[in-house]
Amino acid sequence: MPRKYVIETFGCQMNFHDSERMAGLLEQAGFEAADDASDADVVVINTCSVRERAEEKLYTRLGELRQLGLDQGHQPIVAVAGCVAQQEGEALLKRSPGAVDVIVGTQAIRRLPMLVEQAVERQGSAVFSPVPRRKKAPDLLIDLDPYENVTFPLGVTRRGDPVKAYVTIIEGCNEFCSFCVVPYTRGHERMRPKAEILAEVREAADSGRREVQLLGQIVNHYAAPDDPACDFTALVEAIHGVDGIERIRFASPHPRHVSVRFLETMARLPKVCRHLHLPVQSGSTRVLQAMRRRYTRESYLDLVGRVRESLPEVALSTDMIVGFPGETDAEFEETLSLTAAVRYHSMFSFKYSARPNTLADRRLADDVDEEEKTQRIVALQALQREIQTGLNAQLVGRDVDVLVDAASRRRDTELSGRTSSNVVVNLPGPASWIGQTVTVRVRRAGPHSVWGERQASVDRGLSGA
Ligand code: SF4
Repeated sequence: MPRKYVIETFGCQMNFHDSERMAGLLEQAGFEAADDASDADVVVINTCSVRERAEEKLYTRLGELRQLGLDQGHQPIVAVAGCVAQQEGEALLKRSPGAVDVIVGTQAIRRLPMLVEQAVERQGSAVFSPVPRRKKAPDLLIDLDPYENVTFPLGVTRRGDPVKAYVTIIEGCNEFCSFCVVPYTRGHERMRPKAEILAEVREAADSGRREVQLLGQIVNHYAAPDDPACDFTALVEAIHGVDGIERIRFASPHPRHVSVRFLETMARLPKVCRHLHLPVQSGSTRVLQAMRRRYTRESYLDLVGRVRESLPEVALSTDMIVGFPGETDAEFEETLSLTAAVRYHSMFSFKYSARPNTLADRRLADDVDEEEKTQRIVALQALQREIQTGLNAQLVGRDVDVLVDAASRRRDTELSGRTSSNVVVNLPGPASWIGQTVTVRVRRAGPHSVWGERQASVDRGLSGA
């Protein structure tokens, strides 16, 4: 019987893609995908520590797996990967004693199969036995070492999406924004070689993927280690030349690294999606300084103006934090006024919570009370909902080009896809349309997506709206 694995992923696209890589590595080592943990010999929990709730989810899940062992006598090897693994290390054991066999850091995922095999060996034949038992801490296998090498073997990633391919271009971050845990969990900034990135994009195109999403903490800080002339703009141009790729997206650029040359290039290259995620975090210059974001409200708004001048059709999205230490009512009002001024198509908004080891955690008092933070986030999300409902409503009656990427999660007969500007479009149609770019006339709109029907007579093939 082949051994089976399951990977449960929390967090961002980067984590989702790391899970695709770990799945490929485990399959290369002879494991097969299981439907769920009750059927798996190895359960990998790929964690996120950007938000506190994601951490809580890990501990809840570890408790559930333990209960599964007690109830059904099924005790898989449990590996914890991702940012919480990197950050907590052995401290995980104190909070969840006896529930974890392997801890693999964010920069060590290539060693996962080896660590799992070692865990299996240490457990001997008992590892797949139905008798629940646990090892003591000294047997725990931990790899939290930083690795300089960010290459990843071609052809191993087990892509979970038939239409989009995630391709990492940078690992880590050197910015040290005062609220952010990423530089501590993913390490300092390291670039993947351009040749390796292009080979992966070509491979994705050859396997039928139509869209490539470039991933990195600050994608627009890219500088190819194997080509001194290649920065992020040049990399995007090179990817634009890959046959078979129809759309290029990227997440996330840092506002302070968006160059005029990049905007001009983006405007010139039709495959580059008309969507820019520009994380602002706050509308107040004082708060931005306390966050160490290295731009002001004014310079950010200037940038938005330049973006809209170069790309009038671009949709903007952002990240926003409310209740950062010391944020006053007036400073929060600046966040509201900036949101109203920019009119983002979408926003990820969070209540501030201190992340371990960060500068804000060490130096600033988390002094905005919880009730106030809740009131602020409710107000911000209400405003944002109103804005995006209005923007989506402007699409009603228009034809938009949609890359169909999935069957709808809500209705069997519906498909969903995205416009170049990242609006989610639902439409009736057969599964055979998945992977095609179709023209859709929008009939109605909601705050998070729009609905329409395919206009086969005017399909343009490539993305445009
Ligand atoms: S730029 Fe700031 S918020 Fe983004 S990953 Fe780096 S430290 Fe975190």
